[in-house]
Amino acid sequence: MKKVTKKNAAPSLQFNTNWQYDPSPESTDHVVIDKQYDLFINGKFVKPTKGKYFDTINPARETVIAKVAEAGREDVDKAVSAARNAYDKVWSKMPAAERGKYIYRIARIIQERARELSIIESMDGGKPIRESRDIDVPLAAAHFFYYAGWADKLDFAFPGKKAAPLGVAGQIIPWNFPLLMAAWKIAPALAAGNTVVLKPAETTPLTALKLAEIIRDADLPPGVVNIITGAGETGAAIVNHPGINKIAFTGSTDVGKIIQKSLAGTSKKYTLELGGKAANIIFEDAAIDQAVEGIINGIFFNQGHVCCAGSRLFVQEGVAKTVIKKLKDRIETLIVGDPLDKNTDIGAINSRAQLNKIKSLVKIGVNEGGTMHQSSCSLPAKGFWFKPTLFTDVAQSSRIVQEEVFGPVLAIQTFRTVEEVIEKANNTPYGLSGGVWTDKGSKVFKVSSKLRAGVIWANTYNKFDPTSPFGGYKESGLGREGGLHGLYAYMK
Ligand code: NAP
Ligand code: MG
Repeated sequence: MKKVTKKNAAPSLQFNTNWQYDPSPESTDHVVIDKQYDLFINGKFVKPTKGKYFDTINPARETVIAKVAEAGREDVDKAVSAARNAYDKVWSKMPAAERGKYIYRIARIIQERARELSIIESMDGGKPIRESRDIDVPLAAAHFFYYAGWADKLDFAFPGKKAAPLGVAGQIIPWNFPLLMAAWKIAPALAAGNTVVLKPAETTPLTALKLAEIIRDADLPPGVVNIITGAGETGAAIVNHPGINKIAFTGSTDVGKIIQKSLAGTSKKYTLELGGKAANIIFEDAAIDQAVEGIINGIFFNQGHVCCAGSRLFVQEGVAKTVIKKLKDRIETLIVGDPLDKNTDIGAINSRAQLNKIKSLVKIGVNEGGTMHQSSCSLPAKGFWFKPTLFTDVAQSSRIVQEEVFGPVLAIQTFRTVEEVIEKANNTPYGLSGGVWTDKGSKVFKVSSKLRAGVIWANTYNKFDPTSPFGGYKESGLGREGGLHGLYAYMK
């Protein structure tokens, strides 16, 4: 046997902070994306009346993926008429068990086409494939499965009440979870017996259009679901259409307020799922490493493009130094880059407009005296990117603490007592979600019962399930989606 000397010894396995994973991109060759998409009205793809189209781009490459139809008033009119006709003649008359079968069929086709849908979601919106593959698409299927199960049990869902649908639902969704938001909206509406006109966001229309293909392939009767693309005006035309019975909106608080004003005085029912500025609270007795992972997941998940993102961190003084050090170390290891790479933690910012908004709020944060710390990672030359960013030395009044950044930016503050943190955490116009990290169950119950927010996670964050209701307090919205609450919102 050869003698090991200093000269021929294997190099020692020193920890090298510069090591990288080899690229592991998801292949796209099996994905079919047409050059141009029309409006899905009455079971068919039809051209927009005015013949206008807009581009949807890949935010990681700034390349055009496809042209998408812009629906005008006339097209909204056609979609609402198709939905009304389908409601009156087919869907409201169909035995509920039959309706359920169609919804199951949609769920199963989503599962069959999961890989394709996740890739398109990541291409069109910029989110890491790991998230679209493991979260968005499976949860979208799960919502259809869950509500399919309720379709023929409505009279048991709300004992003592006779369940009846509302009619035609107009649904408007944002760009951060395009397919999942479409599922949140369409599945309960159909299960309750309504028909639908849905508009996806301008920057992420593709998976909704793929869902239109799935709905067509599931042989859903024409007009039961209509999917029309366009910008804000198309959304407004849906909101103001007299043939609509219910509006379900998810998006910004600003647009939510406009919608609420235009619906005031009408008989239309509505639910609004709006912005958030969630507090994640770490107590000294928490499992710190677990909490740090939860904080990272809470704010950097989907580039911080999450209404319930844990964008404010409150850490108890005794562990503040440790937690901040660990967060700084951890963001150094986050991989920012190609959304289609399976190793990517943080993908592309959804649009140039959103990137500019993040940049401007971060600049204000620095000007207001905040101390900024960013990962030293390099960013791709093309596309829209933002480094994971931490802010310390911020005041309750800082705009970075008060306003929704909707990007990978965490504002960190400290506290001493339970009472203090409850007051600080509630000091926001929003109230969508929050997180509590502690070893004490009693503290979880005390804090979560005093936080004015719709969803509180304890020792975890960003966990979703179709059976669980979701929605906001204060300016984060009205009404609930998900679970039985979500079903109830689609019934008389
Ligand atoms: P947004 O600008 O409010 O847009 C949401 C949707 O409304 C889009 O489809 C948009 O079309 C459309 N729209 C714009 N102006 C309209 C008008 N006047 N009337 C009717 N519809 C109109 O929000 P976003 O920037 O897409 O999404 C980010 C926001 O959504 C954040 O504030 C986030 O917190 C919130 N969000 C909330 C939840 C929740 O469950 N609470 C979930 C996800 C996101 P265009 O795309 O063409 O502008
Ligand atoms: Mg796009």
